[in-house]
Amino acid sequence: MSSVALGIPALRRDPSTAPSMEGRPDSAELVDSFGRVAHDLRVSITSACSLRCTYCMPAEGLPVIPTDELLSAHEIARLVGIGARDLGVREVRFTGGEPLTRPDLVDIIRLSALAAPGVELSMTTNGVGLDRRAAALAEAGLTRINVSLDTIDREHFAAVTRRDRLPAVLRGLDAAREAGLGPIKINAVALRETLPDAGDLLAWALANDVRLRFIEQMPLDADETWRRENLVSAAELLAELGSRFALTEAGREDPSAPAEEWFVDGGPATVGIIASVTRSFCEACDRTRLTAEGTVRSCLFGDDETDLRSLLRDGSSDDLIAQYWRGAMWNKQAGHGINADDFHRPVRSMGAIGG
Ligand code: SAM
Ligand code: SF4
Repeated sequence: MSSVALGIPALRRDPSTAPSMEGRPDSAELVDSFGRVAHDLRVSITSACSLRCTYCMPAEGLPVIPTDELLSAHEIARLVGIGARDLGVREVRFTGGEPLTRPDLVDIIRLSALAAPGVELSMTTNGVGLDRRAAALAEAGLTRINVSLDTIDREHFAAVTRRDRLPAVLRGLDAAREAGLGPIKINAVALRETLPDAGDLLAWALANDVRLRFIEQMPLDADETWRRENLVSAAELLAELGSRFALTEAGREDPSAPAEEWFVDGGPATVGIIASVTRSFCEACDRTRLTAEGTVRSCLFGDDETDLRSLLRDGSSDDLIAQYWRGAMWNKQAGHGINADDFHRPVRSMGAIGG
């Protein structure tokens, strides 16, 4: 397995090293040993990107994954189908890297929609190039998008992403709206550099009828510059936003939703805050992840991956693939452990996992 360039740990490939099923109840769904069930599938389809956000990618980008090591559109759709039909997956989100860098993205969506009828297919994107593809993606079966945008100050955007592409992102958002890819959510990482812009970003989101959610920065940057003392916590962000807007607690959309919602100036508009570091929600996690090379990753922070690509390519049945996937999830760890003394960063950075 030549994924060494991305620092990927040893992969499980053959039945003799299949994930342990010891103690697992006889359930078709993706249950884990802590009683959680994964219904939400994140599929990374590339580690390439048009931006270089400092909290995610190195300036030079991640090593290119050779085409034959990436799952093809058909392989992705087959796994999405197995997830939906056999494993209880109810929602699929494509991510990366930047999904829009894949030339066959429309095929991926179209084939996945056919393989998993009735399952919501969404995408997390930086929006660059979305203006040219939003209509075709919607037609292929994409239902919703999340666009990542940390600031609407053009200079600050260029500093954070190392690319002066804010106008392209805004064009992408317009096209997504026209294509009916709503409701559009905006994800913003809470950063020290852009904290003073948070109020402007929220005002912009309210004026443009998009739902804004901030997320605490996690130690998943390729440059390994994350430091706890530099973290903008949910509490600090709330204080910043609270100096300009009246915020009242609105709770979570549902118990497994990572964001705590706040009514802005009495509502009905809300802003969400995902306190992934200071108020971890791991005990309610309902996610399962596939990397672009076709391994199951049960947790963002769990380096132990289970290889499904070899099974896809050696003629294995859907049943066997589903069984490996179940085993991978049964062994999911309890939580990210960022706040523990013995915390170790995962080997892969965010762009190589799929956020
Ligand atoms: N390129 C797409 C994008 O930016 O939306 C999809 C992939 S990106 C890795 C997915 C999400 O992860 C983005 O919303 C991004 O802001 C978030 N992200 C990346 N690095 C992060 C970090 N260190 N902590 C928290 N969120 C992070
Ligand atoms: Fe690219 Fe998304 Fe990572 Fe930014 S957060 S570098 S847009 S993958």
